[in-house]
Amino acid sequence: MTRLDSAIRRLTAQRDLLDWASRAIDPSGLVLELGLGNGRTYDHLRTRLPDREIYVFERAPAAHPDCMPPEEYLIVGDIFETLPSFIERFGPHSAALIHADIGTGDEEVNSELASRLSPMLDDLLKPSGLLLGDRSFQLPHCSDITARTGIPKGRYFVYRRKRERHSVPHGLQANAR
Ligand code: SAM
Repeated sequence: MTRLDSAIRRLTAQRDLLDWASRAIDPSGLVLELGLGNGRTYDHLRTRLPDREIYVFERAPAAHPDCMPPEEYLIVGDIFETLPSFIERFGPHSAALIHADIGTGDEEVNSELASRLSPMLDDLLKPSGLLLGDRSFQLPHCSDITARTGIPKGRYFVYRRKRERHSVPHGLQANAR
């Protein structure tokens, strides 16, 4: 496979998953785009989800002018500085869909980025919320459902936050038997 083949496959998987997630998304909750880049995937998401609030995180916005988010939805700065205050503002479990395409060309930086981001993203997703990622994340409250989407292993990564299991108070457990 040439590098061109590989890039086309990755972009096709990305588009197919954004389309799938736009249909599968919970009716309420925020949408987060992590990494604006030149705005390709943001443009796709806003077209597929015209009625949703989409917040975009980017440290150095330089997208095509047609693909710039409205000012109040563009969170500029290093994500490790901006995401904690975003979580304080909206609360945990506020996101129905997160698309994380925040990698650079450096694999070591990318895996450190993913492991530092993982706990925050795990916290942000609402029950049954979806995360699509250009890499794997460690999300203890989520299931890796990539195989169910038909995307070949390793090309893109899909997680769904598990529904919370409410623990039954001790007395009720006895009554339930
Ligand atoms: N999805 C985009 C598209 O389709 O055009 C491409 C995103 S590009 C691969 C990754 C982006 O993440 C870059 O624009 C980079 O500046 C941004 N980025 C990387 N690390 C970041 C960080 N720590 N905080 C904020 N933005 C970051």
